[in-house]
Amino acid sequence: MGRRSLRPADGLIPAFLRGDARACGRLLTMAEAGDPAFRPLYDRIFPRIGRASRTGITGPPGAGKSTLVDRLVDLHRRRSRRVGVLAVDPTSPFTGGALLGDRIRMSTASRDAGVFVRSMATRGSLGGLARCAVEACDVLDAFGCEEILVETVGVGQAEADIVSATDTVVVVLHPGTGDAVQAMKAGMMEIGDLLVVNKADLPGAERLAADVEGAIELAAPRGAWRAPVLLASAERGEGIEEIAAAIERHREFLVEGPPGLEAARRSKREAHLRRVLEEALGSMILDEKGYAKLLARSLGSSGRGPYAVATEILERVRRSLPSQ
Ligand code: GDP
Repeated sequence: MGRRSLRPADGLIPAFLRGDARACGRLLTMAEAGDPAFRPLYDRIFPRIGRASRTGITGPPGAGKSTLVDRLVDLHRRRSRRVGVLAVDPTSPFTGGALLGDRIRMSTASRDAGVFVRSMATRGSLGGLARCAVEACDVLDAFGCEEILVETVGVGQAEADIVSATDTVVVVLHPGTGDAVQAMKAGMMEIGDLLVVNKADLPGAERLAADVEGAIELAAPRGAWRAPVLLASAERGEGIEEIAAAIERHREFLVEGPPGLEAARRSKREAHLRRVLEEALGSMILDEKGYAKLLARSLGSSGRGPYAVATEILERVRRSLPSQ
């Protein structure tokens, strides 16, 4: 049974390597679902990963992220770059992600074969978005996308997760809603390698840009990179080239180091491995060895607290491991 159910995945990698968009979509679905069958396939495509430029676009809802992503896609396509877009909405696990992606899919740029657009719904499991985002970017990278744009609403954990999946993070803000102040409080400013004040055609944009500059000056310096603040009007297509140029400058800065792009990516890879291991260990203890039952029974009957029970379970796991 098990063997048979794996068979449809067998032809997947050759199709993926031939550039079959459906095969790519299938791998992304498997990554998103945390499907165990994805794991060996991921390992197979792993050597092809690492060529793409990965940019995260985050910021409050309504700031113009989708509009900006569309413009950047257009720009990259004019330069004949293959583009992958990942729209992640951690706030709405079932419909939000799809809506984000649909909006991008409506645009003219994404009807072209050089653009692969995907929306992702994250299940809200701990570390889920981070693992999904990293692996989905990796799939797009291995598929041959040269520019990967990850769009996500800047809320809570999502910022940290987008940092782990990308090299450069663009924070998009817009005037007149008080969101900028919220964003500063929420720590979005700290993760922005670039800050874009969008809707520069509206009143208050320059004032906001000045406030953001001020906030950056007050913030603790993050190495030698000083995040530029750029005004843009995504809707009118103004300031887009400058944003793309600043993203490139940041990438050059990373490549030149220290520590260098590869070293920066390696530490993110280690964090990903850690998450993969944690998940595997968790399911080994909870699912495979029947420890969950033991845990529940102990809690129910002994009146002991969860830490005492967890310690006992870990002791049993330790004893079951081969001695060094
Ligand atoms: P997101 O929620 O951050 O992805 O924002 P959207 O890209 O969906 O944009 C939200 C709204 O702002 C839409 O109605 C856009 O048409 C509008 N918008 C986007 N960019 C600009 C801009 O540069 N100027 C103005 N005035 N409106 C914009």
